[in-house]
Amino acid sequence: MNRFDVLVVGAGFAGSEAAYALAQSGKRVGLMTQSLDALFLPVTEVTDPPRPGTLFAEVFEVGLPPFLLHARAKWRLEALAPALHLFQATAVRLVVEGDRAVGVESWEGPSYRAERVVLAVGTFLGARLSVGALEERAGRLGEAAYDDLFEDLKARGFAFTPAEQAAPPYKGAPGYRVRFYRFADDEWERATFRLPRLEGLYAVGACTTGGTRYARESEDGLRLARHLLGEGQNLPGQGA
Ligand SMILES: Cc1cc2nc3c(=O)[nH]c(=O)nc-3n(C[C@H](O)[C@H](O)[C@H](O)COP(=O)(O)OP(=O)(O)OC[C@H]3O[C@@H](n4cnc5c(N)ncnc54)[C@H](O)[C@@H]3O)c2cc1C
Repeated sequence: MNRFDVLVVGAGFAGSEAAYALAQSGKRVGLMTQSLDALFLPVTEVTDPPRPGTLFAEVFEVGLPPFLLHARAKWRLEALAPALHLFQATAVRLVVEGDRAVGVESWEGPSYRAERVVLAVGTFLGARLSVGALEERAGRLGEAAYDDLFEDLKARGFAFTPAEQAAPPYKGAPGYRVRFYRFADDEWERATFRLPRLEGLYAVGACTTGGTRYARESEDGLRLARHLLGEGQNLPGQGA
């Protein structure tokens, strides 16, 4: 059944971290991401040290190639099955009942429902990637960004702020930049990661901060998990 205590959309640094901590604490977690090959994948080599207690710290080693960092994180997340169900799908719309977010619809067809929905979609909202004169809809090199979820959120009244990130040329890949949108500052609460416009809805990572450093996004993912765990009786499975 496609029903979870917490559904995390986006398995980047923030979403993976949140899902990992929640599943380790006994929650039934869905970690939905549009490309399993891009899970926990840095754009370039990681230079900022991970914060203690994070999944990032568990898998990081100085000089580790980005793809091995990704592989180590994926093994650890997969090892938490069945508490953590990691799967590939693209969220296109929220499922809303009354004033509450209760899940997402996927581009592939199925809907996924949860008590709490976390958007950790990074640099992919309204994203446009440019390499020289070429522009495409992508949130990172080789990773398409579809506008459906962004359009759905705008139609529900969410406000956004433009943001931009650039990557230098790296081992044969060209330098490029990504323009995207993050939630406007008054749409989300820094202490709780809530998006108060809808009950049960949270956002974390670059879709809120604009994407600063991997260590920061992963630490925020862990903080969000701790916040949700602290909500105690509101989450089924707490203490089970
Ligand atoms: C071009 C560029 C260069 C950067 N360079 C650096 C750097 O050198 N050092 C640094 O520390 N940081 C860098 N960053 C910032 C870095 O991306 C962020 O700090 C970090 O990756 C953000 O983590 P996140 O989890 O918020 O998002 P991401 O890592 O972007 O992860 C988001 C995930 O959500 C998934 N997703 C998106 N939309 C959907 C959807 N609708 N349905 C399902 N899944 C979805 C994506 O596939 C992606 O895997 C760079 C960013 C960009 C774009």
